[in-house]
Amino acid sequence: MTLNKRTKLVVGFATCALVAAPVAAFAGGHGDNTRAAKKAIIGGKARNVILLIGDGMGDSEITSARNYQVGADGRLAMDTLPLTGAYTTYAVQKDKPSIPDYVTDSAASGTGWATGHKTYNGAISVTPDEKSVATILELAKKSGFRTGDVTTAEVQDATPAVLASHVVDRDCKGPAVMEGCEVNLIENGGKGSIAEQMVATRPDVLLGGGSAYFEQKSTAGQFKGRTVTDQARAGGYQVVTTADELAKATADKPILGSFAKNNMDLEWVGPKPTLEGTAPASCAPNTARTATQPHLADMAGKALDVLGQQTKKSKKGFFLQIEGASIDKQDHAANPCGQIGETIAFDAAVKKALDYQKSHKDTLVVVSADHGHTSQIVEGPTKGYTATLKTLEGGEMTLSYATADITGSQQHTGTEVRIAAGGPQAANVLGVTNQTDLFFTMRRALGL
Ligand SMILES: [Zn+2]
Repeated sequence: MTLNKRTKLVVGFATCALVAAPVAAFAGGHGDNTRAAKKAIIGGKARNVILLIGDGMGDSEITSARNYQVGADGRLAMDTLPLTGAYTTYAVQKDKPSIPDYVTDSAASGTGWATGHKTYNGAISVTPDEKSVATILELAKKSGFRTGDVTTAEVQDATPAVLASHVVDRDCKGPAVMEGCEVNLIENGGKGSIAEQMVATRPDVLLGGGSAYFEQKSTAGQFKGRTVTDQARAGGYQVVTTADELAKATADKPILGSFAKNNMDLEWVGPKPTLEGTAPASCAPNTARTATQPHLADMAGKALDVLGQQTKKSKKGFFLQIEGASIDKQDHAANPCGQIGETIAFDAAVKKALDYQKSHKDTLVVVSADHGHTSQIVEGPTKGYTATLKTLEGGEMTLSYATADITGSQQHTGTEVRIAAGGPQAANVLGVTNQTDLFFTMRRALGL
């Protein structure tokens, strides 16, 4: 079966290389890729930019998901992007921004790719001296592009938040949890919590979890005493809370999808790592997953459909960010099947983006991560916690988590991570770049 699948893929690549589709141009085979590589380098403007961020998705996380699902010699959708490089992800120290903080969090790294500015861990699109800086989504919106922001985490979590809000601490997600963000309080002349700012920025599509923060009430300003959901409705949003409602939502109004109180449910479950290691086991679907929650690929598909409709007759296209958030969260939790299931679900969203690009070639698609993470593919039990998985191709793969106790939170790492792209301006991901360079690549692509 594996062989058949591979044979088919190889044939597909050969055809692709001849028919202009840059996708998969470099994947596999012993052929000469020179022509395909040249063809994949396209300058000029992009009508649309789709950015997909696998949170905490370093090379190790990509490799374990690939090994498990499609085999060591298989290729995920994200592996088929034609141009691949690496970028550095470090943050900087708040009090001394000339000195790096070598291990970033999603807030500082997100601020990097969203605004082009390095900042301190915990900062949401503010500089080390706490000044707000314009984001790629805000600039795109101002210039007439449609915009979308999609995640499997709380919508107020760092990665989606950096595109549409500015606070000095990532934990200030709603009006009732503003400790540490006094400077951002509306009563102090600020713009309020992440939730309040995000619905005020008003991306056309805003999907994920986090209803807990949308249900909090504003403490000052025009919407004092009313929930953030009320504020969203007053701003014209249609609010949906289930996959069915999302499917029925129309393109004539902005869509706020709020599908879970906090983060959305996991796709897969599996063995918990131990100090001695585990017997080889398989991952399984998470039967406790709330059936009314859409999958990331459903949200990605809907966002592309709506933004596509909204821009069909306009001169300008759209900017869309799609985050696979719980790759990171399950790496923190030392949950190998949780982490791999989220990576595979993220890859299904990448596939949606690549399918869209096939019929809209003036679209720049970028797939990257915000930082590396703990999980390592190892030979056997380590000084940390390990679990062994039986991969679908019949192998045994041991994953190790060794940066915290099993009851604690495993750590991010400071490694460079993959950045891959296809479409106009994609050549700017080649080589080793800095995370902040991605902002300028996307800005150039959209002509902002
Ligand atoms: Zn994390």
